[in-house]
Amino acid sequence: METKIKAITPDSLVEAKNLIFDGEVVAMPTETVYGLGGNAFDDGAVQRIFAVKGRPADNPLIAHVHTGYDLSQIIDYDPPYAKKLREAFLPGPLTLVYPSTGKVSAYVSCGLNTLAVRVPSHAGAQSFLKAVDIPIVAPSANLSKHVSPTSAEHVYDDFNGQIPLILDGGVCEGGIESTVCDVTGEYPVILRPGLITAKMIASVVGKCGEYTPNLTAGEKVKSPGVLYKHYSPRCQTLLFENAADGLAACKGVNATRVAVLCENAIAETFVKTGVTVLNLGETEQEMAARLYELLREAEKVCDVLIAIEPQKKDGVMVGVLNRLRKACTSVDIRH
Ligand code: AMP
Ligand code: MG
Repeated sequence: METKIKAITPDSLVEAKNLIFDGEVVAMPTETVYGLGGNAFDDGAVQRIFAVKGRPADNPLIAHVHTGYDLSQIIDYDPPYAKKLREAFLPGPLTLVYPSTGKVSAYVSCGLNTLAVRVPSHAGAQSFLKAVDIPIVAPSANLSKHVSPTSAEHVYDDFNGQIPLILDGGVCEGGIESTVCDVTGEYPVILRPGLITAKMIASVVGKCGEYTPNLTAGEKVKSPGVLYKHYSPRCQTLLFENAADGLAACKGVNATRVAVLCENAIAETFVKTGVTVLNLGETEQEMAARLYELLREAEKVCDVLIAIEPQKKDGVMVGVLNRLRKACTSVDIRH
């Protein structure tokens, strides 16, 4: 199959819509990362997404809808505080997990009775979602475990020959996936950190929990995807908490192509050693926006990537560090 990359125009939207209603998978841009989209009501399309990505069968998908979509079609209960969150943050990088009406394909939520719903703010994503006027399930458009894509070229690198069309909406501004927040309980609970932080959510509704599964106690995981090894570049990775340990590793490592991924504040130290420096930048938004681009760059330019954790750990950095640690772990968390 030929994989076409097309700018978002009235013609390419018609083509995308026809493909979606034929059960095909179409990649689309969002403000966070690119998604691999399919018709949420079509069992075959949803199964195809899992197959193409090699995604574990117990990792549920997020349904994407346009700003005017009637949510009561797909969600069963909408607590008053969820409305406040929608008004404050949507369209935008916040996914809300509601009780499901069960109308979308059973494969979407992998047997859970909830449904994750997102309203992206990216203008191209909105045009596509309005053209189809159905919920589009769209996991990140990367092969499972690989680094998430922030450009149409990244999607092409992973799926050339596997999908018919990539809608090109430019480079994603956000850079890390949406915050996933459970709204089935008394107050919101973050299941996956992202650009909308716990503090931002609490400032609107008074309280926000942050969920981390206690696996040693045999607890059933609320959001299965959070456990998987993820976001990994195809090179050896070493992660350090500070520049001194990273420098020692640079000197000791036995490889010709070494790169260091670090924040701008310590970049100069590594430039002096002569290794390739992949500079995450200064602000938390910059670091989020550059992380995946640089992890994909790393696999082209080095055999060993030495990553140094940025010093700021709160706010958006909770999400950035969550991705960086999973990308660079030497131990498979699950698979
Ligand atoms: P991705 O599509 O690759 O960005 O991953 C989607 C994320 O949303 C994963 O971490 C999933 O576990 C999570 N997710 C999707 N649907 C649900 C749901 N119904 N309940 C809890 N988490 C969900
Ligand atoms: Mg993903």
